[in-house]
Amino acid sequence: MRGAVLYAPGDVRFEERDAPKIIEPTDAIIRMSATCVCGSDLWSYRGINPVTEPAPMGHEYCGIVEEVGRAVTSIKPGRFVIGSFFASDNTCPNCRAGYQSSCQHKEFVGGAQAGRLRVPLADGTLVATPDVPADDLIPSLLTLSDVMGTGWFAADAANVKPGMTVAVVGDGAVGLLGVLSAKRMGAERIIAMSRHESRQKLAREFGATDLVTERGDEGVARIKELTKGIGADAVLECVGTQESMMQAIRSTRPGGSVGYVGVPHGVELNGEELFFAHVRLHGGPAPVRRFLPELIDLVLSGKINPGKVFDLTLSLDQVAEGYRAMDERRAIKTLLRP
Ligand SMILES: [Zn+2]
Ligand SMILES: [Zn+2]
Repeated sequence: MRGAVLYAPGDVRFEERDAPKIIEPTDAIIRMSATCVCGSDLWSYRGINPVTEPAPMGHEYCGIVEEVGRAVTSIKPGRFVIGSFFASDNTCPNCRAGYQSSCQHKEFVGGAQAGRLRVPLADGTLVATPDVPADDLIPSLLTLSDVMGTGWFAADAANVKPGMTVAVVGDGAVGLLGVLSAKRMGAERIIAMSRHESRQKLAREFGATDLVTERGDEGVARIKELTKGIGADAVLECVGTQESMMQAIRSTRPGGSVGYVGVPHGVELNGEELFFAHVRLHGGPAPVRRFLPELIDLVLSGKINPGKVFDLTLSLDQVAEGYRAMDERRAIKTLLRP
């Protein structure tokens, strides 16, 4: 089997790897229908996260179950399934509370940019669709594995409710799908912060009503201007830098909420500023598994089309070009088909 392996910053190779095997009786092996490159893969690709040894890449996946371990009861070979980038048992107290990405038995699912993948805790992790879906639905279903689930969690964590004014910091795939999520949850006004034309266009399509091109304190000032000096009811932070986090907190009205899903890199918060801001913060690695059944229904019934974030489709063996295009911001997100 061939798959993507990162050797050093900027050096992704598509090469022969050992085919995955059932190791634990709770495992499943799936044959990939589609996978993709994640914004978070770029942290390693750019050398911001150190690369110490060759690493199999990719954690977003959907496909057909080929084989299951003897303890797997609900997931059957031949079914089309989607799972989260964190495997979870879906039975422990944290899972039952809806925080499967903090499962007591969580395991990161890596190496998905390949023809086949081993998924641990298959019964808890994977959700099957009623039938094998039509090919044109696969990009949207794939987004539920991470990027759409993460945008949805940002809106959920920011407590978005009908009629609210929502601001979204970050115009990557997660931010754009945060716009779509806020719209679906009934936000009346959605302010997308973006300075790139193609991304602004997609933000509008997903439901953005206003666009703000300024960043940092100027961005905050624009949000205040647009909200009669008060700030947004809910702000989705989808970047993970010091600037974006402060922009999110300072754009929120007193009593409002920030949902933050950008993996923080060097973010430090000032306790005194937070205290006087009167803002709620909630975020973390998205418990994608919680949202899978609902989001699968929304995709299958045609109510949402999050697969539009893929503006580049390549065959899996062109994965290196997929990384380059995203690194150079020529593509929002790269879809890979085996
Ligand atoms: Zn991801
Ligand atoms: Zn659990």
